[in-house]
Amino acid sequence: RAKSAGGNRFETADAEADARAITRHGLTNALPAALERGEFFIEYQPLVHLGDGSVHGAEALVRWCHPQHGVLGPDRFIPLAEHTGLIVPLGRWVLEESVRQARFWQKRHSDGGPLHINVNLSPMQLHHPGLVSDTVEVLERAGLEPSALCLEVTESALIGADDDLLKPLRRLAEMGVDIALDDFGTGYSNLANLRRLPVSVLKLDRSFTRSMQQRPADAVDLKIVEGIVSLAHSLDLGVTVEGVETGAQAAQLRELGCDTAQGWYYARPGAPDRIHTLLLADAV
Ligand code: C2E
Ligand code: MG
Ligand code: MG
Ligand code: MG
Repeated sequence: RAKSAGGNRFETADAEADARAITRHGLTNALPAALERGEFFIEYQPLVHLGDGSVHGAEALVRWCHPQHGVLGPDRFIPLAEHTGLIVPLGRWVLEESVRQARFWQKRHSDGGPLHINVNLSPMQLHHPGLVSDTVEVLERAGLEPSALCLEVTESALIGADDDLLKPLRRLAEMGVDIALDDFGTGYSNLANLRRLPVSVLKLDRSFTRSMQQRPADAVDLKIVEGIVSLAHSLDLGVTVEGVETGAQAAQLRELGCDTAQGWYYARPGAPDRIHTLLLADAV
């Protein structure tokens, strides 16, 4: 009996794995038509200055409104799009849409200071030869100055990057586009390597923010964050923290010298109107 129950459990596990594979397969196949039909949309999450809570900008986070499965988060489909190459046109759409949106906010809040828009880039987009020309074209068409755009690249995407891979990022950085190192601290951070990268912002991974939650906060993590902030500032890099969920975390990270923050404590990702409202109020 026990044996057959065990057998069933394996069958169940297999069936679940099969179901997941089928879903993955189905989602992968549905991606191109979904892009054509306009099933993707973008939520924006504000980035705020830790000092005074004013809005620095927003990060564009893509979602898929799937006709059967409902709203899917990027973790469900970005790896699939990356695998098939669809990430290139999808990423271009995200860039175009969010740059246009940022320009729209700027026009309506021209006295509100520069508003930044952060857009995530996948490794495959980095390898795509059209990256620089597409970005220039998108900015020009929308009339957004390059310095208002920040492209987020994960640390792992740049691990072992040779000069060929870094060249387009350098070109963009020379034009004034900010490059942020996303999820910083999770990979094999080679701190000495930082000088070689055309990066102007470090986005400290959520795992550090999470440990600020503990009472007392993890002493080693505190030291690490302190070290990263002082290193970053000595290299003229800004430090953004992600995943700020409580006021205590915000206070701690402010004290540690972080510059900007993002997280549920301020606002969840949401519709573009939300950013408009925050800009009107000039604070979160
Ligand atoms: P990311 O760039 O590190 O984005 C931050 C993620 O943390 C987002 O998840 C955001 O919703 C979530 N988050 C923000 N504040 C909090 C908080 O206080 N607590 C917690 N627990 N989570 C918080 P999301 O939207 O599911 O995106 C996941 C990842 O998908 C992103 O991580 C990014 O790597 C990728 N992604 C999103 N949009 C795009 C895109 O347009 N292109 C590419 N290539 N990747 C994207
Ligand atoms: Mg990001
Ligand atoms: Mg991140
Ligand atoms: Mg992250």
